[in-house]
Amino acid sequence: MAEVRECAQCGTPFTPRREHARFCSTRCRVTWNREHAGVAAAPAVAIDWSVTAMTEAAGRLAAARDWDPARLAAAVAEAVWWVTLVDATLVRYHPRDYEAALASEDVRRRKTEQAL
Ligand SMILES: [Zn+2]
Repeated sequence: MAEVRECAQCGTPFTPRREHARFCSTRCRVTWNREHAGVAAAPAVAIDWSVTAMTEAAGRLAAARDWDPARLAAAVAEAVWWVTLVDATLVRYHPRDYEAALASEDVRRRKTEQAL
C-alpha cells in the first residue's frame, strides 16, 4: 500500500513520488519556498562545490572496475548522497530554475530517474 503524507503547504493528503517529498504539487512547493525565501539561502559557492563533489563521486563510480562489493557500496552511497544534497538544494533554493531544467528537452529526466 502506498504511503500517504500531508502536504506541508496546503495540508492535502498525497502519495509521495520521492523519498523526501513534502508537497502535493509543484505549486505548493514553489509557494512554500517563496513564503520561506528569507530563511538562509544557500550560497552559490556551496552549491558549486557540492556539484563538484557530486561530479567527482559519479566519476569515481563510473570508473569502478573489479571493485569489491564493500568498496562499490561505499562509492554508490557517496554518489547518492551528493546527488540527493544537490537535488534538495536546487529544489529548495532555486525552484524556478529547477523546474525549467526538468522541463527542458536537454534533460533526459526519465532515463536519469531510472538510473537513480
Ligand atoms: Zn499542497
